[in-house]
Amino acid sequence: MILDRPTAFRPRTIAGVLRPATADEVVEVVRSGPRPLHPTSAGRNWGLGSGLPVADGATVLDLAGLDRVRELDLERGYAVVEPGVTQGALAELLRGTGRIFNLTGSSLHTSVIGNALERGVGVHRARAEDLVGLEVVLADGEREQVGWWPGTSAVPRPHGLGPTLTHLFTQSSFAVVTAAVVRLLPRPEEVRVLPFTFAPGDLADAVDVLRSWTAQKLVPPTTKVYNPVAAQASGVRDEYLAHICLSGSAEVVEALGSVLSAAARRSPLVPAPASAADEVVRATYAGDPDPADTWFLRKSQGCPADRFDADRGLLMFLPVVPFSGAAATRTAEMVRACCVAAPGVTMNVLDSDAADHVIGIAFPADDPAGVAEARETLDRLHEVFGAEGFLPYRRDVDRPGDAARLQRRIGDALDPGGVFAAGRYAGRR
Ligand SMILES: Cc1cc2nc3c(=O)[nH]c(=O)nc-3n(C[C@H](O)[C@H](O)[C@H](O)COP(=O)(O)OP(=O)(O)OC[C@H]3O[C@@H](n4cnc5c(N)ncnc54)[C@H](O)[C@@H]3O)c2cc1C
Repeated sequence: MILDRPTAFRPRTIAGVLRPATADEVVEVVRSGPRPLHPTSAGRNWGLGSGLPVADGATVLDLAGLDRVRELDLERGYAVVEPGVTQGALAELLRGTGRIFNLTGSSLHTSVIGNALERGVGVHRARAEDLVGLEVVLADGEREQVGWWPGTSAVPRPHGLGPTLTHLFTQSSFAVVTAAVVRLLPRPEEVRVLPFTFAPGDLADAVDVLRSWTAQKLVPPTTKVYNPVAAQASGVRDEYLAHICLSGSAEVVEALGSVLSAAARRSPLVPAPASAADEVVRATYAGDPDPADTWFLRKSQGCPADRFDADRGLLMFLPVVPFSGAAATRTAEMVRACCVAAPGVTMNVLDSDAADHVIGIAFPADDPAGVAEARETLDRLHEVFGAEGFLPYRRDVDRPGDAARLQRRIGDALDPGGVFAAGRYAGRR
């Protein structure tokens, strides 16, 4: 994990970096190491601060060395992974099996746990829904398991009996996570990603159509809509691009595909050439991505994961917006009003009522004027979207959130001495 790279965030003074290799070593560090500690998994939280802590003076606990898949149960559909297990590594283990993992559109070198703790978004569902259990090292050095773990009930279920504790530790800085149980999806017989384009002037109508298809279960709640800048990564110019994934038995995919084609003829959505959702895209939904990280490279304009931040600057703003034509249009207007250069925007459908919008402000990392402009743009986005009530579902290191009173009390009770650095969410002290 690299901390000496420029980002558009305020530089931090780091007391040091520790790289334990086992959960027992993590316990030792928590019991008697330096503090406060800022744990990271792969540290590739690009656009939100990557591996940086919120405040100066923390020691970074880089957990990339805990990289074991402790258990894989294809029958019951779960894996027990450590923080250094990347989504690419887990997908490789599942190749040719009856299971897949819900991949994100980020690099294959990002962490399964890091993204789940951030409550990131996979191509099939939010990563929080993949999480069924966590192993945590608490501030007093005790190692605990929360949620479901092998050896308890026969069926992995996220909510056991009583209060569910797993999400006390997502978007939180209450503990170090040393392992997680994540669910594996059944491998679909067939996966088809259908690309549709529409003109910018049809945004409201097209989004309303997509919403009604989603609400009526003609399409799953996994559609991604790329604005004309983001659509360029798929070879589409001057138009919006929607990727609709149909998966399941071949008959179901075939039947839904023809109903969808007929429905599209009565809508502003136009079937796009297959090249707008090619095998690279399909393979990610199918759980078998290209090990060369091709889809990520297309989106990062060729910048590989190892060069991100050093060569390519990025700030991200991630508001959750109602899933409606009117809200999508308002979002596009606000983006236009805030941004000097049009940014790439991806709308991820979450369900038939909500979509998160990923607004990526990219700039050359070595251009101070570009950095300053990106920062000002991000400030404007926060202000304008905040006034509309379209609030981000993830925060960056320069804008930690205010914790609710009870969140603060729980944080103080779990970590009264400040072993863990206050994070971007549920900040303490
Ligand atoms: C082109 C591009 C596409 C992207 N696509 C997506 C996408 O589709 N979906 C998406 O969600 N994101 C996406 N991202 C954003 C980002 O790259 C991912 O979310 C990535 O998974 C986060 O980095 P990481 O997995 O290395 O987690 P980390 O950076 O390691 O962790 C994230 C945060 O979680 C906490 N944390 C991590 N590990 C621990 C631990 N073991 N114990 C306690 N706390 C911990 C820390 O606060 C840390 O800052 C994209 C980025 C880019 C540039």
